[in-house]
Amino acid sequence: MIRLKNYIDGRLEEPQSGDYLDGYEPATGQVYSQVPDSDNRDVERAVRAAQRAFPGWKDTPASERSKLLLKLSALIERDLEKLASAESRDNGKPIGLARVVDIPRARDNFAFYATAILHEESEAHLMGTSGFNYTLRHPLGVAGCIAPWNLPLYLFSWKIAPALASGNTVVAKPSEVTPMTAFMLSELCIEAGFPPGVLNIVHGLGPKVGEAICSHPEVPVLSFTGGTATGKRIAQVAAPMFKKMSLELGGKNPNILFADCDFDLALKTTLQSSFANQGQICLCGSRILIERSMYERFRDAFVERVRQLRVGPPSREDSKLGALVSQAQFEKVQHYVDLAREEGGRILCGGAPVQLEGEWAGGWYFEPTVIEGLGPQCRVNQEEIFGPVVTLQAFDTVEEALQLANDTTYGLSSTVWTSSLEKAHRVAAALHTGIVWINCWLVRDLRTPFGGVKQSGIGREGGFEVLRFFTEPKNVCVALPKS
Ligand code: NAD
Repeated sequence: MIRLKNYIDGRLEEPQSGDYLDGYEPATGQVYSQVPDSDNRDVERAVRAAQRAFPGWKDTPASERSKLLLKLSALIERDLEKLASAESRDNGKPIGLARVVDIPRARDNFAFYATAILHEESEAHLMGTSGFNYTLRHPLGVAGCIAPWNLPLYLFSWKIAPALASGNTVVAKPSEVTPMTAFMLSELCIEAGFPPGVLNIVHGLGPKVGEAICSHPEVPVLSFTGGTATGKRIAQVAAPMFKKMSLELGGKNPNILFADCDFDLALKTTLQSSFANQGQICLCGSRILIERSMYERFRDAFVERVRQLRVGPPSREDSKLGALVSQAQFEKVQHYVDLAREEGGRILCGGAPVQLEGEWAGGWYFEPTVIEGLGPQCRVNQEEIFGPVVTLQAFDTVEEALQLANDTTYGLSSTVWTSSLEKAHRVAAALHTGIVWINCWLVRDLRTPFGGVKQSGIGREGGFEVLRFFTEPKNVCVALPKS
């Protein structure tokens, strides 16, 4: 049994309560780790340590902060295989995915922000001969960073790296469902020689640890990724305290296929955008909208390919889908498939759990599922499922495609497939989402703004946007007296 510890003030320590939560291995459904069940006392210790570290860290030259973050990035690269295997075991995702996406991306997040801060510029606003203004950007202090379970180290580092790079100290909480690689990261921080208190990682439950971070008066800035309901709760707590907030929340992303698209590429990529990470990526396209003249051809080819996707143990190299992350997530997916039937949907393939043998018999496996026949207002087409379930709908015109795509309370990302340049750009401009992919999916350039609109959140991560988020601008006005 692996017992995790908090990372506070440069040391690994037990939670103040002495209590632990069970950590499950999704592939087997068995408990395999003990996760600190921390509370506000641990958060208090972490915030105090981060406060003590702040003056020294903010005054550390950017070049020195950069070196330390690059060192951490290099240690992640060194331990890539070990971290990938831990991520796969903790989350249920196929090892191949953790090896080529999750861990390399965590490595790159640290390297990206370590070097971005070397290229920052300050704005100046000139007033002719009467004077000028320049902008100072100060780090805010102790940043609270809270991450979800679907891309554990990837999204954890996506927050921590820019917060630290821009001179803040951090109190961070990984998801209690997938805390393992955050714990391993704390060991790497010690090895890299991080000054005590610069990064603190407190494990535990959202309502206890997460809420203690969000409501702490000495944590002026919060970066959160997770569900929309949790985001609302955090906003309720933090808004009256005038905290700066970035909320990256849920999605119900449309994947729009026009009949003039590159059919084979669209088909191949739609398999990934539907079922990568068992559909548990906030950017997965769960509503597939198909131009009617191509509907049956695409549907039949898609269903045939989905039937060939192998669901299996995450540690097996040939598993295309691993296990769902938790019993709760497994039950949620089953619930929505049952609801789809009640709402009149036809299950074209999948729709049931997968029962594996032997040590994997207790794991949370579910078939990739394709549903048609549901109207746009059905709950299955409106609510985020966050599992291996997609629906198909037909449309006749560009206007109808846009209406269907935008007819949701969410607005995270969308995908457009067409060979018409004019149509692609017209549709991209009219989509109510923060991210649009044209003839591709999940192609990420870390310099670009990342985030959603409507109930998919507020604020943007990525590039210099997030460095601005983690700093406060101050205008300095200099008047030049007339001689
Ligand atoms: P969640 O909201 O249940 O939990 C996210 C984190 O918040 C966890 O660390 C949890 O412990 C913590 N938390 C829970 N209650 C809290 C509270 N009251 N105060 C503070 N923290 C609290 O989300 P999840 O189930 O871990 O993740 C899945 C969700 O995340 C999906 O909705 C998915 O779309 C979303 N997501 C969004 C993005 C994005 O970039 N927009 C990326 C990945 C995942």
